[in-house]
Amino acid sequence: MDSLQHTIKRPVSFAGIGLHSGKIATLAILPGEENSGIRFVRSDLPEAPPTPAFMNRIVDTRLATTIATEDEAMISTTEHLLAALFGMGIDNAVVELDGAEVPIMDGSAGPFVHVLKKVGRRQQNACKWMLRVNKEISYFEGDSFVKILPYKGFKVTCEIEFNHHLIRKQVFSSELTPQKFAQEVAGARTFGFLDQVEKLRQSGLALGGSLENAVVIDDDGIVNAEGLRFVDEFARHKALDVIGDLALLGFPLLGHIVTKKSGHTHHFSLMKQLAAQPERWDLIAYEEEGESRVLEKVVLSTKEAGDKLLSYLLPPSIALAGQPCFA
Ligand SMILES: [Zn+2]
Repeated sequence: MDSLQHTIKRPVSFAGIGLHSGKIATLAILPGEENSGIRFVRSDLPEAPPTPAFMNRIVDTRLATTIATEDEAMISTTEHLLAALFGMGIDNAVVELDGAEVPIMDGSAGPFVHVLKKVGRRQQNACKWMLRVNKEISYFEGDSFVKILPYKGFKVTCEIEFNHHLIRKQVFSSELTPQKFAQEVAGARTFGFLDQVEKLRQSGLALGGSLENAVVIDDDGIVNAEGLRFVDEFARHKALDVIGDLALLGFPLLGHIVTKKSGHTHHFSLMKQLAAQPERWDLIAYEEEGESRVLEKVVLSTKEAGDKLLSYLLPPSIALAGQPCFA
C-alpha cells in the first residue's frame, strides 16, 4: 500500500470520439501538484475554472457520470478515465479536455491504463490519505444495491443479471492492486443491447457508439466479430464503472465494494450515504511498513447546493493540504 501520493512522470495525450456526443475530443493528462487530486480543465473554454473530480460536482448520472464547474462547463463520461487513474494509483493529475465528453477509446479503460503504465508514476512528498470504511455503508433501490463493507484492502464484487441467454447472472469478484486492476478490469468494455442502442440513437444519444467501442448484443449473441475479452466481461465492466464513480469520493478506498444490478445513479446515492454517515469511516495514512494509524476525521460541510440538501465531503485539497502525515 502506498504511503505517499503519486502523480504521472510526464504528460500524455489521447484523442477519440465521445460515446454519447459523437464528437472528437483531445485529452491530455498532466502531472498534478500534491494534494490537488484529479482536476479537469476545459481547454476549449479558457475562462472556465478547473473542475475537481469530486462528488459535489456531479450533475448527471443517467447514462454516464457527468461533472460540471460552477459555471456549468460540463465534462461527461468521466468514469472509465477516473477508474484508470484511481486503479493505477495516481492521486494527482490535471486532465485537459477540449470538448465536453471524455473520449470513449475502445469502450474500456485499457488504452488509458496502457499509456499510464508506460509513462510511470512519480512519488510525491505528501502522505496518501485513504478512506477506510469501518461499518457497512449501503444503498438499496428495488432489487439493486451498492454497499461498502469493512475490508483490510480494496476489493470489488459485482453481480449483474440480464434476461438474455448469453448473460443471465454474472459475478465478478477480485481484490485489486494496480497490477490486478490492469489485468482483470481495465480491458472490460462497455456493452449494450442492439434494440436499446437504436432507441438511444433516436433520442440523440450513443451517437459515437460503434463496434469499435462497445460490445453489442442482439437476440442471437455478440454482434462484434472479435467476441468477448473475458467470459464475464459484462460484470467486469460494472466493476470498472463503480471504481470510476467512487473515485469521485476523492480518496482511495479501503473496503469491499459489493454491487448488484447497479448503475451510475446508485453509485452516486451510495456516495451521498457515505457523506451523510461520517461515523462509519475515517481517513488514514500508512506508515512505510504498511501499518496504519488513524490520523484525522474529515470535517463535513453541509453545503446546501440548491435543492440538494446534502452533506458533502470537503475536497481533499481543502481538507488536507499541509496536514502532516503523522502528528
Ligand atoms: Zn462504463
